[in-house]
Amino acid sequence: MLAAASVARTAGSDAAPAWIRVEVSNEPEAKTATRIVEGVIRAEAVDGGLLLEQRDGRLDLFQPGVVLARDPIPPPAALETPRDVGRRVLGELPSGFDLLVTKHYVVCFDTSRQYAQWAASLFERLHDAFTNFWARAGCDVRPPDRPLIVVIFSDRRRYEDHATRDLGAATDRVVGYYNMLSNRVTTFDLTGVDAVKADLQTRGQPSPDLLARPEAAGLVATLIHEGTHQLAFNCGLHQRLAPVPVWVCEGVATYFEAPDLASSRGWRAIGLVNQPRRDQFLRLTDRGWLEPLLRDDEAFRRPDAATDAYARAWAVTSFLIKTRKQDFVNYLAVLAKKCPCEADSEQRRIEEFTAAFGRPDAAMEQAVAAFVVRMR
Ligand SMILES: [Zn+2]
Repeated sequence: MLAAASVARTAGSDAAPAWIRVEVSNEPEAKTATRIVEGVIRAEAVDGGLLLEQRDGRLDLFQPGVVLARDPIPPPAALETPRDVGRRVLGELPSGFDLLVTKHYVVCFDTSRQYAQWAASLFERLHDAFTNFWARAGCDVRPPDRPLIVVIFSDRRRYEDHATRDLGAATDRVVGYYNMLSNRVTTFDLTGVDAVKADLQTRGQPSPDLLARPEAAGLVATLIHEGTHQLAFNCGLHQRLAPVPVWVCEGVATYFEAPDLASSRGWRAIGLVNQPRRDQFLRLTDRGWLEPLLRDDEAFRRPDAATDAYARAWAVTSFLIKTRKQDFVNYLAVLAKKCPCEADSEQRRIEEFTAAFGRPDAAMEQAVAAFVVRMR
């Protein structure tokens, strides 16, 4: 999951959304190279910084000095059809991509149609499972108001070329990702991944069924994980660029991602024991980790600490969902109200957590650990 690298202060995030057309320079110094962007103001900084949401859901963060002119415009008369949305995405991709439109998704792919259909059915099942789960828990989730975009490359190299812009050097570790600004999930044909390919060579015809095999479980988990982020930010669980603690975003995604090897499609159920995360959590022996995990997002950004932080986020979230579900739903409702670019502080995070669940002290940390040990 990607967030903006830096966010300006907000002036009035509760102001009514207004459509504007802005002329922006691509670089603050080179004012000759400009482009026009239309969208709704999501946040505005006192120093002139602007967060704009375009019609397709893409967020653009313009630093002060980049916006050369701005004019109010009327809102667009008609909504785009999913096919219109897809065609526009195709225009941004290399040649050779095709479109698959399903109930909630627009999939742009240059893989076989069969693979794209498999991926789309996985995401559709996730969509239904995700919205049912939270609605039944009493969460105020709503269906996404626009199609969710998924881009699938057939070839890992082309995917990496495309993804490098978003991910930088981390691309080789990531088989798919959700970008909070573009609001898209991007991935590539996982049947081309080495572990799966070795198996393919002995079996002949490539088939998405291969992805139900244990060696592919981690790959399917990644797709579900990234698809869960996309849903959480589009169904009202959280708002993009709002100060939602990373442990919550990642806790929810890891809670959903657990592969279900009994299912022929590789994923079916929610909240199964996530064995890889559980194993990782049980390997950790240091104490005093809970409060720092809740206080800031630091551990998730450090390569040497991120895996541990994900395992702990999964443990805390599972503990709270299974033992304090109503409190967790109420806490999510507090987070859902946070606006893009809203101010945040370590103190506020701890206060909000404490108001929902009590103090994150040694006793709570021990309760989480004991819960994970007991899990089957
Ligand atoms: Zn994630």
